[in-house]
Amino acid sequence: MSKTTRTWSEELSARHDDLVTLRRDFHRHPELSFQEHRTAEIIATRLHNSGLDVRTGIGGTTAAVGILHGDKPGHTVAWRADIDALPLTEILDAPFASGTSGIMHACGHDGHVAIGITLAELLATRRAEMPGTAVFLFQPAEEVFGGARPMIQAGVLENPHVEQVYGLHLTTQTPGGHVAVRSGPCMASADFFDVEVRGKGGHGAFPHLSIDPITVAANILLGMQNLVSREVAAKEPAVLTVGQIVSGTKHNIIPVTATLRGSLRTFNAEVREQVMERLGAFVTNIAHAYEAEAHLSFADEGCPTVINHDNESAFVHRCAVDEVGADCVGEADMMMGSDDMSLFLEERPGCYFRVGIAPNDGVPRPHHAPEFEMNEVGLPVGLRVALNVMLNALSAA
Ligand SMILES: [Zn+2]
Ligand SMILES: [Zn+2]
Repeated sequence: MSKTTRTWSEELSARHDDLVTLRRDFHRHPELSFQEHRTAEIIATRLHNSGLDVRTGIGGTTAAVGILHGDKPGHTVAWRADIDALPLTEILDAPFASGTSGIMHACGHDGHVAIGITLAELLATRRAEMPGTAVFLFQPAEEVFGGARPMIQAGVLENPHVEQVYGLHLTTQTPGGHVAVRSGPCMASADFFDVEVRGKGGHGAFPHLSIDPITVAANILLGMQNLVSREVAAKEPAVLTVGQIVSGTKHNIIPVTATLRGSLRTFNAEVREQVMERLGAFVTNIAHAYEAEAHLSFADEGCPTVINHDNESAFVHRCAVDEVGADCVGEADMMMGSDDMSLFLEERPGCYFRVGIAPNDGVPRPHHAPEFEMNEVGLPVGLRVALNVMLNALSAA
């Protein structure tokens, strides 16, 4: 089934250096969610120069979409790549390391953009023999789960009508150059919440005359973990994490308010609903025990679980085996990380698979950390598998 090895291998080899250079350029110039102006401009220019119909500014965002109509009849298939970077300062010492202090491509999205552009350019070179229509979705703001929804609302899956959607995430948790695929739930849902605690301020020496919101917040923080461990079935993964506590000004002043900010992650929509519902009562009642008030609010739109479709996942698995061999293709584990690719996969069948970029030295390079570093061996592998997936999916036969 490999459509790349026999006829495309020369083009793929010829593209290798450009692929790496392109990724390094994006790495050098990272841009935060919804601010990916330079990135989107390069995407639009390159796709336009290859003859694709290019749309930018979709839904008022930095999204870019390229549409490539093949000359032969076939299916309409989308390839999705996320394009944003993170607010981190990189520690890598390399000429292509981030040139912008405080911003870094620490999740591999620079590689996703480079693979997406190269994939589109390669397909465009053989437009005359290409079946169907390829739709390239370059999505901003994945890291804040903000980019997919406005693209879908703006109709990127409708005009032309997309039948399937695919994409890949590079990951340092998979060996360099290996591919990991999982059918069904594979990445957790994520919902962000705030807890506002209101007490009564006063002097640190006389807490009995105050209602200390910090003590209340501390009890809420510890108590909410029991909600997961005592009310959610042990076989259902769920994680509550508070990532931020904001309160107070000084050693000896009891403040009036305290705020907790956190996230809830699960794989099961029922568990998600259950915890979201219970958390509000839990928070309020713990606060009442201390005569304080607390209010829970979830951000309007969370990110659902990434659920890969069975047939499309089996199809990607076969396409990957054909490209890199069965020894280098495994089953991906369920991971508590989240990705708003889930929204595209709620709309259309498809599969979001992983390509390994783990370093050869065995030292962990976690995503979203300043020491994140990509083993670029994953780039050509990702490109080849992506090309094989698209060629087979577009083909009407
Ligand atoms: Zn990320
Ligand atoms: Zn990511």
